[in-house]
Amino acid sequence: MEFSSAEIQNEASRLFTKLKKVDWTMEKCAEIAHLTLEINKLKKEKNAVILAHSYQSPEIMYGIGDYLGDSYGLSIKAKNTEADIIVFCSVHFMAETAKILNPKKEVRVPTIAGCSLAESIKPNDIKKLRKEHPNAGVICYVNTTAEVKAECDACCTSANALKIIEGMPQNELIFVPDEFMAKNLQPLTNKKLIPWKGRCIVHQEFSDESVRQVKSMYPEAKILVHSECAPNVVKESDLMGSTDDILKYVFNSDANQFMLVTECGIKDRVKTEFIGKEVLGSCILCPYMKQITLEDVLTCLKSPSSEQIIDLPEDVIKRAKKSIDKMVEITEKN
Ligand code: SF4
Repeated sequence: MEFSSAEIQNEASRLFTKLKKVDWTMEKCAEIAHLTLEINKLKKEKNAVILAHSYQSPEIMYGIGDYLGDSYGLSIKAKNTEADIIVFCSVHFMAETAKILNPKKEVRVPTIAGCSLAESIKPNDIKKLRKEHPNAGVICYVNTTAEVKAECDACCTSANALKIIEGMPQNELIFVPDEFMAKNLQPLTNKKLIPWKGRCIVHQEFSDESVRQVKSMYPEAKILVHSECAPNVVKESDLMGSTDDILKYVFNSDANQFMLVTECGIKDRVKTEFIGKEVLGSCILCPYMKQITLEDVLTCLKSPSSEQIIDLPEDVIKRAKKSIDKMVEITEKN
């Protein structure tokens, strides 16, 4: 597609109003303007919607994303959309979740990126765990493949995990795949949690020492930690929660300084969307989430490869949906 220099200039200015907050220059915005223009034009022509996870790069979130959010929030957007095509800018399991909730829609994913948590467990591992703990129910965190969700009794997100644990009929629960999340939740419930050994390669890297350093330099700062972090890091926090919990806390807090112990995308969102809030300390990039480029999104819209279109067997969709429905039922009841 060809665009005039005026169109490119206008688009670069639009991008710059947002991206300058994460230190982009006007020149850098001008370099990607033809891509965002083409993607946004194609999106309209094809009646597509672009969902961008909060860990995506700023040019994806603010250049082409229609909705920003966490995996569950975006899946709900996907469920309610009138668009014919859903392009899910995120890792593969999240696009699968959108497909489970919208089996009739075409769900596309720009890259086939995995996730260390989702890859840590297979359906057979669940079957084995069930044999070892015949009286236990099985809860899977949303960061699992559709095949794994299909083997579980209920799904959960980092925002509603405790509610789901309390709402299940069993007193013993296999909680997969995030070992740290299970360990962080165990002190908050009287039920027995049986963890798996999965780890998020991003959140496992944060140390309690780095948090204490920030706390000693900025005693007024609020420390907001993702529940995929290790328990000794969570111990140092003012809040343990999901990415949306972290963003809500910053939005509602009177404090001005925050350490966000999570992926760098959340830092970008706070810098771009919340004026006057200072983010301290370092963050870590997710190599899976950051694989997606504007070029990938363009291909995915224009002429997707078969891998870019989410295709799941009907029985997997049906069984995985039961886990998700159970989560919704418990969440709505409580
Ligand atoms: S941040 Fe962690 S849990 Fe999220 S996609 Fe990356 S590896 Fe997976």
